[in-house]
Amino acid sequence: MRQPTEMTVPLVDLKAQYDSIRADVLAAITRVCDSQQFILGPEVELLEQELAAYLSAKHAVGVSSGTDALLAIMMGLGIGPGDEVITTTYSFFSTAGSIVRLGATPVFVDIDPATFNIDPDAARDAITSRTKAIVPVHLFGLSADLDPLLTATSGSGVSIIEDSCQAIGARYKGRCVGALGMAGGLSFFPSKSLGAYGDAGLIATNDEALAEHLRSLRVHGAQPRYVHKRVGGNFRLDAIQAAVLRAKLPHLNQWCRARREVADRYHQLFTNAGLEAFGVELPVQPRDRWHTYHQYVVQTPRRDQLHTHLESRGVGTAIYYPVPLHLQECFASLGYSEGAFPKSENAARTALALPMYPELTEDQQAYVVEMIAEYLRMS
Ligand SMILES: *Cc1c(COP(=O)(O)O)cnc(C)c1O
Repeated sequence: MRQPTEMTVPLVDLKAQYDSIRADVLAAITRVCDSQQFILGPEVELLEQELAAYLSAKHAVGVSSGTDALLAIMMGLGIGPGDEVITTTYSFFSTAGSIVRLGATPVFVDIDPATFNIDPDAARDAITSRTKAIVPVHLFGLSADLDPLLTATSGSGVSIIEDSCQAIGARYKGRCVGALGMAGGLSFFPSKSLGAYGDAGLIATNDEALAEHLRSLRVHGAQPRYVHKRVGGNFRLDAIQAAVLRAKLPHLNQWCRARREVADRYHQLFTNAGLEAFGVELPVQPRDRWHTYHQYVVQTPRRDQLHTHLESRGVGTAIYYPVPLHLQECFASLGYSEGAFPKSENAARTALALPMYPELTEDQQAYVVEMIAEYLRMS
């Protein structure tokens, strides 16, 4: 057998993107430094306009992180003690953390194992008279199935809040996710598909009253300044982050397309190597959705060993997420136990994210798949 040359292929390579846009980003940062206007202000307002247009949302409110976006939306909707919020147990922590921080109760449901996203039937069945919202998460860059949720809650006062933190640019039935329900939270954490150079986030909504409420909540609930009818927080977005994001936004569609090409190439390489026969499941894209492959996640029962093997061969991989939310120690008082959500628990045992970024080369991908084949054939 041909010995492939040793390579290192990181899970994500932010430097590659930076090298391609360095001059524009540094000019944007310099512009803010020259203005000495660091918090909110014109850069943030322009970013809000540009992202509202990009997302086809009537309003966009820049905030300090994706987590704060979700928290502020729920505060803005008046969610608190005694309220239930239905969400998927297979997500990043802050999806549920923000519900609990407001004193509300997360009601977890299982996923559709093919897409990793919330099972809409399970979500509908979990609705009670206390339900205030459903938070579908567009995990790994693939939209959740929203229409069944929108239909089930239509006219009921139950809000759909999209956790779009991993899915900027992703489309559901041709429309960008983010403002397809009551409101959506986006994250610009540096490694997200559109990443800032620090923490940053955004709320998208078509509801004018909610948008106005959120603009006040992000400055401690003030409206006007120093007048507080309600308690908010410091959820403000920095001008430097907004300027960096504005420099990057014109490239976003091209980066999404490049991710999709990388995903297509993985699919081809896995098929050519016959790896589907070895029990490796590849990500799917339902016909009515446009996946942006924020992560490229495969599944195999030998996940942990494969993870270790790839590490030894210089290939960076990651496990999203090893512990589903219902089994987190901090949520023990909610009373869920192992076995409650078998599909999510299975995904937590078998899912492995492979290197994925727009600049990933064909040679690097061939090496990744070759190293996976090497392991699965010898074990
Ligand atoms: C990243 C992420 C968040 C939180 O975003 P931050 O900007 O890191 O606070 C929330 N939900 C999901 C699904 C995420 O991936």
